This record gives sequence, C-alpha cells and structure tokens, in this order.
Amino acid sequence: MGVEIKKDDFKRFLYRLIQKYEFIAPVKEDVVRFKHITDMKQIYLKEQPYFHAKQFFLPKEEVMFTYSEGKLAGPSEKKERIIYGLRLCDLNAIKHFDEIFADEEGYTQRRNNTILIGVHCTGCHDYSFCSSMDLKPYYDLYILELHDTYYIDCKSDKGKKLISRYKEIHMEIPKINSPRHLKNKNIMNHFDDPIWEKTADERCLSCGRCNLLCPVSMEFIHEEKIAYDLHSSNQIRKWDSDQYVDFSDFPKERTERLKQRIFFQLEYSKKNFGHTLCVGCGRCITGCPTHIDFVEILNNLEKKPGKRSLKKEGLS
Ligand code: SF4
Ligand code: SF4
Repeated sequence: MGVEIKKDDFKRFLYRLIQKYEFIAPVKEDVVRFKHITDMKQIYLKEQPYFHAKQFFLPKEEVMFTYSEGKLAGPSEKKERIIYGLRLCDLNAIKHFDEIFADEEGYTQRRNNTILIGVHCTGCHDYSFCSSMDLKPYYDLYILELHDTYYIDCKSDKGKKLISRYKEIHMEIPKINSPRHLKNKNIMNHFDDPIWEKTADERCLSCGRCNLLCPVSMEFIHEEKIAYDLHSSNQIRKWDSDQYVDFSDFPKERTERLKQRIFFQLEYSKKNFGHTLCVGCGRCITGCPTHIDFVEILNNLEKKPGKRSLKKEGLS
C-alpha cells in the first residue's frame, strides 16, 4: 500500500519529519555523502552518494564492550532517527546486514531505532549494474516522484504510522534500468583466467578503497584498549580491508586478494548466505584509483569459454 501526496504537501510532510527526528540524508560537499541535516534544502538527490550509509549502523570505529570494575557493558543506542534518500542498492545492502548482524546488540539497537526512507533512482551513475542483482523492495517508505505529486510506497508498520493521515492507494513501482548489466553468471568458469593476475599485477595498488566504499563489505579489525590503571578496557572494532597486504590470514599475493574479493561477493557468498553480497552499486569501480572494472572483465570473459566449461565439453 501507499499514498499519493501533492508536491506542496510533501514538503510539509518532510519538514515535520526533519523537526521531529534525527534526520540523515545525502548532502553535496566535495562528494555526495550521508549526513545529519536540519534543513530540507541540504538534501541532494541528483547523484548516487559516493559514500554509502553503512557507518550509521556499523561505525568506522566502535566500542563493542566496556569492561570496568568487574562488569561488562554493551552499547546503548536510543535515538530515533530517519535515514532518507537511500537508493534500492543501499537499501538491499542494509537488508543483507539485517540478516548477518541480527544477533549483534549494537547493530540491532541502531536498526530498531531507524526508519529507512528510500527514493526511486532515476540517475544511476555510469558504473551501476543494479538491474542484474535481483534487488528487493526493502524499506519503511519509498518515494516515487510523479508529475505534480509523489507516490509514497510503504512496507512496514513504522512507515505506516508516518503516512496514516493520507488516503491509501496502490501503485506499481517501475523497474530501475541500470546503465550496465553483469552478463556473466558462471564466473567460476573463469577463476583461473590469466586476466586476474595481469590486472592485479599491472593495476591493483592494494589501497583497499574498493572494500571501504562497498556498502556490503564487512571486514573488521578488533583491538583491546586497556586503561592506564589496568582496571578497565574497551573492546574496539574498526573497518578494515581485505585488500591490504597485512589483512588477517588472507592470501599475501595481490592476485589472490583481488580474486577473493570479487569471487566472495559474487559466488562464495551464495553458499554462505544464500545470495550474492553485491548490490551492483558500482562504487568499487568508480572509487578505484586505477578503475579496475570487474563487470567489464567478466562480461568480456563471457565471450570466450572458460577452462572448466572446456573440460566439461571434453575439449581440453
Ligand atoms: S580500489 Fe582498486 S587499486 Fe585499490 S585495492 Fe581495490 S582494486 Fe586494488
Ligand atoms: S562489490 Fe562493488 S558493485 Fe558490488 S556492492 Fe560492493 S561496491 Fe557495489
């Protein structure tokens, strides 16, 4: 169900939400990023945000537990807030986290206190391939701009409360047609292709930007900070990248690390989580300083049969 609101009424609707809740939305600065706002004029929806909204659920650095005087204390998050202007790719990244971090106290508190308001994407950036990634309608409210009205689709009780004063209608949300498509669905056939080594050797800087910009990646490093008097300590978790040479027990060879990232997100994750862990946002490609474009690599590989398919056909 949903409601249709005239554009002027929608402004008033948004104004009330900004007054009432802690309100986070995309803002244009050096790049577009999600920030706390107090005025609707700050909202910028013309481009996909360069940075995703993951930090509001899984902070870049977080105290997981504090140990003090023999007692263990977890996080406590009570503020009610709205994250506005999320596109379908970022909403689906949150959907994946909701499954994966369901048992984590801090994450669950933040999610329970948050209302997700999506916007229908009309301006995907050039590297987006979200139409290939089977994205689901996952939000409390979702805004579709029409000629002189907005249709607000609703998928939860949290969302319903916000639009209860308006008359219910139903409208189909049009499909998003992203500028690119990931054509290659049998990528394991190309695991041993020399293109990976060539790409890693010639172009990968192991800078980790691809991970840090990915709304679904979840590499962390854990630390314990012990107080000077040794009576208390904090367990800290920070974002990390599996592309760094010193990342955990990950392979040290650059090619292996590059392949692990791509094959984990597109293939191994299906076994572990039942779906890919990529939402097709394209940020890892736009943000890569040497523009390593795994979609282009995989789409080109599709044109030639992979080693494993040759074997299957008895040709090698
Ligand atoms: S952003 Fe590009 S260069 Fe940096 S680690 Fe990732 S693939 Fe390599
Ligand atoms: S792997 Fe790249 S395209 Fe896929 S969700 Fe992460 S940043 Fe977006």
